[in-house]
Amino acid sequence: MKVTVLTAFALSAAGAALAQDMHQHDAHVHGRGALDIAVEGENILMELRAPGADIVGFEYPAREIEEKAAVAVALNLLSNPEDLFVLDAAAGCGFVAAEAELHGKKTQDDAQERDDDDKTELADSAEAGGHSEFHAEFVLSCDHIERLKTISLNYFKAFERAEALEVQAISDKGSFSAELTRDAPVLKLEGRI
Ligand SMILES: [Zn+2]
Repeated sequence: MKVTVLTAFALSAAGAALAQDMHQHDAHVHGRGALDIAVEGENILMELRAPGADIVGFEYPAREIEEKAAVAVALNLLSNPEDLFVLDAAAGCGFVAAEAELHGKKTQDDAQERDDDDKTELADSAEAGGHSEFHAEFVLSCDHIERLKTISLNYFKAFERAEALEVQAISDKGSFSAELTRDAPVLKLEGRI
């Protein structure tokens, strides 16, 4: 699926607020991912960011064939989100776009050491401290979004090293945050969107 309506959506108020919020998260903690949700009209935009450690169990560039396969499987799962997110059938929501990527990530330490101008230290840091992060964007369209009361995540079943997802959601009713975990993977939306 190709993301085709994201650009138009990003221009909306909710999309802009979401994008602004996303830039405030720089560091990541292994075991914890982030799920940003913006609801506007009958559309839902979701952005997932999760450490490579949570998704494939490593964050260095894939070298072995098994590692490359693990990355490909993960990207495929994240690009086909019907299996990862279960929405109330009554709401008639369907994914209209999904896109997943794997990014390298600099730590704050790396950034500081880059400023130090000490090339040896930077090389050591890049070797030892590199992080990577999976990033996925989803767009859903719903026939009856007012009937959407929960989103159940199979994310924790699919990715056994993931422990938590910090949710930030925004709609024209306001914003709220929530934490989803392996033991409590259901996001409650009733009265909130
Ligand atoms: Zn990491």
